[in-house]
Amino acid sequence: MVLAEVGVAEAPPFRLDNEQLAFRFTATLSDRSGTPVDRLPTPRRLDDWLAANDLSLGSAHATEADLNLARRLREAIHRTGTATTTDTTPDRADLDLINTLARDSRTFPELDKTRLRWRTRSRHPVRAALGLIAQDAIIALGGHQRGQVKACEHADCGGLYLDTSRGQNRRWCSMNTCGNRAKKAKFRHQSVAKTPI
Ligand SMILES: [Zn+2]
Repeated sequence: MVLAEVGVAEAPPFRLDNEQLAFRFTATLSDRSGTPVDRLPTPRRLDDWLAANDLSLGSAHATEADLNLARRLREAIHRTGTATTTDTTPDRADLDLINTLARDSRTFPELDKTRLRWRTRSRHPVRAALGLIAQDAIIALGGHQRGQVKACEHADCGGLYLDTSRGQNRRWCSMNTCGNRAKKAKFRHQSVAKTPI
Protein backbone atom coordinates (compact mmCIF):
# COMPACT_ATOMS: atom_id res chain seq x y z
CA MET A 1 0.00 0.00 0.00
CA VAL A 2 1.49 3.30 -1.12
CA LEU A 3 0.54 5.33 1.97
CA ALA A 4 2.06 2.82 4.38
CA GLU A 5 5.40 3.21 2.61
CA VAL A 6 5.68 6.82 3.69
CA GLY A 7 4.26 6.19 7.13
CA VAL A 8 1.03 8.09 6.70
CA ALA A 9 -1.41 5.20 6.43
CA GLU A 10 -3.83 7.34 8.40
CA ALA A 11 -3.66 10.22 5.88
CA PRO A 12 -7.18 11.60 5.49
CA PRO A 13 -8.86 10.82 2.16
CA PHE A 14 -9.31 13.48 -0.50
CA ARG A 15 -12.60 15.17 -1.24
CA LEU A 16 -12.78 15.20 -5.00
CA ASP A 17 -16.44 15.99 -5.64
CA ASN A 18 -16.17 19.78 -6.01
CA GLU A 19 -16.71 20.53 -9.72
CA GLN A 20 -14.20 23.40 -9.82
CA LEU A 21 -10.54 22.38 -9.79
CA ALA A 22 -9.35 25.40 -7.78
CA PHE A 23 -12.00 24.84 -5.10
CA ARG A 24 -11.35 21.10 -5.06
CA PHE A 25 -7.80 22.13 -4.21
CA THR A 26 -8.82 24.52 -1.42
CA ALA A 27 -10.94 21.65 -0.03
CA THR A 28 -7.70 19.84 0.82
CA LEU A 29 -7.97 21.88 4.02
CA SER A 30 -11.44 20.98 5.23
CA ASP A 31 -13.52 22.07 8.21
CA ARG A 32 -11.73 25.43 8.15
CA SER A 33 -14.17 27.06 10.57
CA GLY A 34 -14.28 24.04 12.90
CA THR A 35 -11.39 21.65 13.49
CA PRO A 36 -9.33 21.94 10.29
CA VAL A 37 -8.13 18.75 8.59
CA ASP A 38 -5.16 19.07 6.24
CA ARG A 39 -5.56 16.43 3.56
CA LEU A 40 -2.09 17.25 2.17
CA PRO A 41 0.05 16.25 5.17
CA THR A 42 3.13 15.25 3.14
CA PRO A 43 4.74 15.96 -0.25
CA ARG A 44 3.74 12.41 -1.26
CA ARG A 45 0.08 13.24 -0.71
CA LEU A 46 0.49 16.32 -2.91
CA ASP A 47 1.77 13.97 -5.63
CA ASP A 48 -1.25 11.73 -5.03
CA TRP A 49 -3.67 14.66 -5.21
CA LEU A 50 -2.17 15.93 -8.48
CA ALA A 51 -2.36 12.41 -9.96
CA ALA A 52 -5.97 12.01 -8.81
CA ASN A 53 -6.80 15.23 -10.67
CA ASP A 54 -4.86 14.36 -13.87
CA LEU A 55 -2.26 17.04 -13.15
CA SER A 56 0.90 14.95 -13.02
CA LEU A 57 3.17 16.79 -15.46
CA GLY A 58 6.32 14.72 -15.10
CA SER A 59 8.03 12.07 -13.06
CA ALA A 60 9.44 14.49 -10.44
CA HIS A 61 8.08 14.09 -6.92
CA ALA A 62 6.92 17.00 -4.80
CA THR A 63 9.40 18.33 -2.23
CA GLU A 64 8.74 19.97 1.15
CA ALA A 65 9.23 23.34 -0.61
CA ASP A 66 6.58 22.38 -3.19
CA LEU A 67 4.20 21.40 -0.41
CA ASN A 68 4.75 24.74 1.34
CA LEU A 69 4.10 26.56 -1.91
CA ALA A 70 0.98 24.45 -2.52
CA ARG A 71 -0.38 25.37 0.92
CA ARG A 72 0.38 29.07 0.32
CA LEU A 73 -1.45 28.92 -3.00
CA ARG A 74 -4.34 27.04 -1.42
CA GLU A 75 -4.82 29.71 1.25
CA ALA A 76 -4.34 32.55 -1.25
CA ILE A 77 -7.12 31.12 -3.42
CA HIS A 78 -9.36 30.53 -0.43
CA ARG A 79 -8.89 34.05 0.95
CA THR A 80 -9.41 35.61 -2.48
CA GLY A 81 -12.52 33.49 -3.08
CA THR A 82 -13.92 34.37 0.34
CA ALA A 83 -13.29 38.05 -0.43
CA THR A 84 -15.27 37.56 -3.65
CA THR A 85 -18.24 36.11 -1.76
CA THR A 86 -18.25 39.00 0.72
CA ASP A 87 -17.57 41.72 -1.86
CA THR A 88 -14.36 42.84 -0.17
CA THR A 89 -11.02 43.71 -1.76
CA PRO A 90 -8.68 40.71 -2.07
CA ASP A 91 -5.19 40.85 -0.59
CA ARG A 92 -2.58 42.12 -3.07
CA ALA A 93 0.02 39.52 -2.00
CA ASP A 94 -2.50 36.71 -2.58
CA LEU A 95 -3.28 38.01 -6.08
CA ASP A 96 0.44 38.30 -6.84
CA LEU A 97 1.08 34.69 -5.81
CA ILE A 98 -1.84 33.36 -7.87
CA ASN A 99 -0.88 35.43 -10.93
CA THR A 100 2.83 34.60 -10.70
CA LEU A 101 2.25 30.84 -10.44
CA ALA A 102 -0.25 30.97 -13.30
CA ARG A 103 2.19 32.87 -15.54
CA ASP A 104 5.26 30.78 -14.72
CA SER A 105 3.52 27.46 -15.23
CA ARG A 106 4.19 27.43 -19.00
CA THR A 107 1.62 24.69 -19.47
CA PHE A 108 -0.40 23.75 -22.50
CA PRO A 109 -3.03 21.10 -23.28
CA GLU A 110 -2.36 18.31 -25.71
CA LEU A 111 -4.81 15.90 -27.28
CA ASP A 112 -3.52 12.37 -26.75
CA LYS A 113 -5.83 10.25 -28.94
CA THR A 114 -9.10 11.11 -27.22
CA ARG A 115 -7.75 12.37 -23.89
CA LEU A 116 -6.59 15.74 -22.69
CA ARG A 117 -3.05 15.75 -21.28
CA TRP A 118 -1.37 18.74 -19.71
CA ARG A 119 2.23 19.41 -20.70
CA THR A 120 4.68 21.99 -19.48
CA ARG A 121 7.88 23.69 -20.60
CA SER A 122 8.73 24.49 -16.99
CA ARG A 123 11.66 22.71 -15.35
CA HIS A 124 9.53 22.41 -12.19
CA PRO A 125 6.60 20.14 -13.06
CA VAL A 126 5.00 20.24 -9.59
CA ARG A 127 5.08 24.05 -9.54
CA ALA A 128 3.76 24.02 -13.10
CA ALA A 129 0.83 21.88 -11.93
CA LEU A 130 0.17 24.37 -9.12
CA GLY A 131 0.21 27.03 -11.84
CA LEU A 132 -2.62 25.21 -13.61
CA ILE A 133 -4.64 25.34 -10.40
CA ALA A 134 -3.83 29.07 -10.16
CA GLN A 135 -5.06 29.56 -13.74
CA ASP A 136 -8.29 27.76 -12.90
CA ALA A 137 -8.71 30.00 -9.84
CA ILE A 138 -8.26 33.13 -11.97
CA ILE A 139 -10.95 31.98 -14.40
CA ALA A 140 -13.34 30.95 -11.59
CA LEU A 141 -12.83 34.09 -9.50
CA GLY A 142 -12.53 36.64 -12.29
CA GLY A 143 -14.41 35.15 -15.23
CA HIS A 144 -18.06 35.37 -16.23
CA GLN A 145 -19.14 33.01 -13.43
CA ARG A 146 -17.53 35.04 -10.63
CA GLY A 147 -20.96 36.04 -9.30
CA GLN A 148 -21.69 32.36 -8.69
CA VAL A 149 -18.80 31.78 -6.28
CA LYS A 150 -20.22 30.95 -2.86
CA ALA A 151 -19.02 29.85 0.57
CA CYS A 152 -20.57 26.74 2.09
CA GLU A 153 -23.17 27.52 4.75
CA HIS A 154 -22.13 24.70 7.06
CA ALA A 155 -20.82 26.32 10.24
CA ASP A 156 -17.59 24.26 10.29
CA CYS A 157 -16.81 24.34 6.59
CA GLY A 158 -16.30 27.66 4.81
CA GLY A 159 -15.47 25.73 1.60
CA LEU A 160 -15.87 27.45 -1.75
CA TYR A 161 -17.96 26.27 -4.70
CA LEU A 162 -19.50 27.52 -7.89
CA ASP A 163 -23.30 27.63 -7.67
CA THR A 164 -24.45 26.64 -11.14
CA SER A 165 -27.91 25.58 -9.97
CA ARG A 166 -30.79 27.04 -11.96
CA GLY A 167 -32.29 28.83 -8.97
CA GLN A 168 -28.90 29.94 -7.59
CA ASN A 169 -29.99 28.43 -4.30
CA ARG A 170 -27.33 25.84 -3.58
CA ARG A 171 -26.14 26.05 0.04
CA TRP A 172 -23.46 23.40 0.48
CA CYS A 173 -20.03 22.82 -1.07
CA SER A 174 -21.08 19.20 -1.56
CA MET A 175 -24.24 17.23 -0.87
CA ASN A 176 -22.09 14.20 0.01
CA THR A 177 -20.40 15.94 2.92
CA CYS A 178 -21.91 19.18 4.22
CA GLY A 179 -25.35 18.66 2.68
CA ASN A 180 -25.55 15.28 4.37
CA ARG A 181 -24.26 16.60 7.69
CA ALA A 182 -26.91 19.33 7.63
CA LYS A 183 -29.62 16.82 6.75
CA LYS A 184 -28.61 14.53 9.60
CA ALA A 185 -28.45 17.44 12.07
CA LYS A 186 -31.94 18.53 11.02
CA PHE A 187 -33.24 14.97 11.42
CA ARG A 188 -31.67 14.71 14.90
CA HIS A 189 -33.20 18.05 15.86
CA GLN A 190 -36.65 16.94 14.69
CA SER A 191 -36.33 13.59 16.50
CA VAL A 192 -35.42 15.35 19.77
CA ALA A 193 -38.29 17.81 19.33
CA LYS A 194 -40.75 14.93 18.91
CA THR A 195 -39.51 12.96 21.93
CA PRO A 196 -42.19 13.16 24.68
CA ILE A 197 -40.94 14.53 28.00
ZN1 LIG B 1 -19.09 22.54 3.02
